[in-house]
Amino acid sequence: MNWFDEALYTEWSDQGYAQRFHVSRVLHRVKSGQQDLIVFETPFFGRVLAIDGVIQTTERDEFIYHEMLVHVPLFAHGAAKRVLIIGGGDGGALRETLRHQTIELARLVEIDRHVIDISLQFLPGLSTGAFDDPRTEVVIADGREYVKGDAGRFDIIIIDATDPIGAGQVLFTEEFYRDCHARLADGGILAAQCGVPFMQPDELSNCHARLSRSFADVSFYLAAIPTYVGGAMAFGWASDDSRLRSVAEDVLARRFDSAAIETGYYSPAAHRTAFTLPPYVQSLLD
Ligand code: SAM
Repeated sequence: MNWFDEALYTEWSDQGYAQRFHVSRVLHRVKSGQQDLIVFETPFFGRVLAIDGVIQTTERDEFIYHEMLVHVPLFAHGAAKRVLIIGGGDGGALRETLRHQTIELARLVEIDRHVIDISLQFLPGLSTGAFDDPRTEVVIADGREYVKGDAGRFDIIIIDATDPIGAGQVLFTEEFYRDCHARLADGGILAAQCGVPFMQPDELSNCHARLSRSFADVSFYLAAIPTYVGGAMAFGWASDDSRLRSVAEDVLARRFDSAAIETGYYSPAAHRTAFTLPPYVQSLLD
């Protein structure tokens, strides 16, 4: 069970392995109908958002996750104008998306308005004004239902979802990926958080099999985010153009330089090497 024991927050994984945070202060807790949301402060990781007992983001390490989730597909594409973000109510993926000057529309589809509201109030550094940007459109809806309709076409779709339990479960289905594929423009790319393969090998295999039914080129790239415990996290990568997965480092470097985005983790070299999968991860796809 994940909960507070005096001043400690414990998050158990299904494998009987836990991470613990010293809690300096609980800032907010709300049962929003769909989800149980809590924001608390810790001495090292800063403020932490957890949903249904699962850590979503921390002020200290969120940059790794959001930079890699967003900049890898955006710099590989090179000229994205329209981005669809599914989930991502904390605003971190939106913030990184809007740092690209090519972006004309960033539409964020979040099922739970409370996540946006409490993130704006208690974690303002996550969105840093991105929700007020004129290029932003927020839709409060289930992302699964949203992509079924005629929502237009996007150059990039980013799935910034909770784990495949509760409300987020539908964002890992074959049908959802099929409808995302239909929403992508030619040369479009989908990127998605697909768990930590060391701890959740089935999640990776399932994402691979389900994405592969709709997309011609499916793979994963990796980055280690300290509070997503168990090693590197896998980001799903899906497109119909395999060349987008191997854009040369010098091309990425030109795009990165001209975008003039300061990063703490992303770099053109980190982008290229992130696609190198160790055998234990590769074997989950074979
Ligand atoms: N970085 C996080 C992680 O790796 O777990 C994800 C963070 S973001 C806060 C996840 C968001 O997905 C939550 O705000 C949640 O409300 C939203 N979400 C879950 N299911 C959804 C659905 N079916 N449609 C749209 N948003 C959903």
